Amino acid sequence: MGRHRKIKPKSFSSPKGTHDILPQDQKYWERIRSVSKNVFSYYNFLRIDTPHFEETGLFVQAVGTQTDIVEKQMYSFQTEGGDDLTLRPEGTASVVRAYLQNGFVAEPHPVKFYYIGSFFRHESPQRLRFRELNQIGLEIIGDENAVVDAEIIHVFSVFLRELGIPEFYFHVNSVGCSDCRPQYRSQLLQYYRPKAKGLCRDCKRRLKQNPLRILDCKEEKCRIFKKNAPQLLDSLCEACKKHFTSLLEFLDEAGIPYILNPYLVRGLDYYTRTVFEIFTDSDWAGELESEKEKGAVLEKVPEKIEEAEKPIVEGEVIAEVKIEEKPKALKGIALGSGGRYDNLISLLGGRAEPAVGGALGMERLVALMKSLGLKVPGEPKQRVYFVQLGDMGKKKSFKIFEELRKNGIAVGESLGRDSVKSQLKLADKSGSDISLILGQKEAIDETIIIREMSSGIQEVIPQSKMIEILKKKLKK
Ligand SMILES: [Zn+2]
Ligand SMILES: [Zn+2]
Repeated sequence: MGRHRKIKPKSFSSPKGTHDILPQDQKYWERIRSVSKNVFSYYNFLRIDTPHFEETGLFVQAVGTQTDIVEKQMYSFQTEGGDDLTLRPEGTASVVRAYLQNGFVAEPHPVKFYYIGSFFRHESPQRLRFRELNQIGLEIIGDENAVVDAEIIHVFSVFLRELGIPEFYFHVNSVGCSDCRPQYRSQLLQYYRPKAKGLCRDCKRRLKQNPLRILDCKEEKCRIFKKNAPQLLDSLCEACKKHFTSLLEFLDEAGIPYILNPYLVRGLDYYTRTVFEIFTDSDWAGELESEKEKGAVLEKVPEKIEEAEKPIVEGEVIAEVKIEEKPKALKGIALGSGGRYDNLISLLGGRAEPAVGGALGMERLVALMKSLGLKVPGEPKQRVYFVQLGDMGKKKSFKIFEELRKNGIAVGESLGRDSVKSQLKLADKSGSDISLILGQKEAIDETIIIREMSSGIQEVIPQSKMIEILKKKLKK
């Protein structure tokens, strides 16, 4: 007989940049979903879900060919039928596509949507940067007034407070419109051209194609030039200036903590006028070098943000904010971003309509909630344990579970086990107050044993009285 060499099967881990959401973390995700549903629907945003993949052309046309997303981050593939498809890298393009396709143009304006879902970007994975990432987002289509820009920011800030996040800051800026941006663009070119040699490779290319994006570069050697670069705010046209001033007035009035960040541009081509990012703290020394610059920008920060209001969910006070545990590791983390995109709808074949939106990263919110030690409700505590004995006991168990479930009583079990002793041990370990024991005899007599775990006292009761008696005992 020949010797068989055992080949060990390959084992797998999740692909780079992806993560499992494990049972112990689900409560954070569930909490984010439920708070966002409550807050967003209160402000009349309608839930929309779009497919996880779309025609590649949608994103190329919407996001722009000279963006990081389209250039290097899309998961694109061709189907056997020859369709070019892409896993959605962001939400806005898909929502606008759905808006145009489904006749929302004819609905009363503005049309307000929210979404929750996962998105895909081929980025180099870092801490809190994922290749499959979850976002919640808002879009308001069909209103030009700065009050709806402020509404997006306000609703996000309500959401963050409701979640129990004690401190966050909105960085805001205006990137102008197609009237005033070209002028700024040429100013930037004038400024950066003599410095071209010192820029990174990407920025050398951006200098030719889209110099605004140099301001967005994370490379140290490009960032040092930024502090003397001309500011977009100085070259805004009258209409854009008025729009931005109006936005800041709304934010002041609403008491929303914001920082005017003149160098904030967003990585996507479709933004016009308002752009914003949300950070966990006001200290962004990495962005501005000198104290003078920091002072100039930070004077906009209100002294103290109102303490997060205690969130109320189904009559319960849940979040206990421990402010002393400042999330050191999460300093300077962007929780989300957004802006106005007045040209996108016509870019995707609709008639020109103004719009504004934004999104928050759920992975970052979860990390922040954990680092703050926020208390979130988990599954209801299970107080009843079911113990069975013999074939009859096992067979009748599902019927009993259903009766308990219909009456809202959570129950633990270990149906695979036979020994009463080991089942009672598990009941004890689970912290249950009461055990229900169903053996051969009880199954035939249609009775059940009810046992108080602390005292060990037990009695035989008719199954027809089980719910009534259980409820009485659980009330104690
Ligand atoms: Zn303008
Ligand atoms: Zn660069």
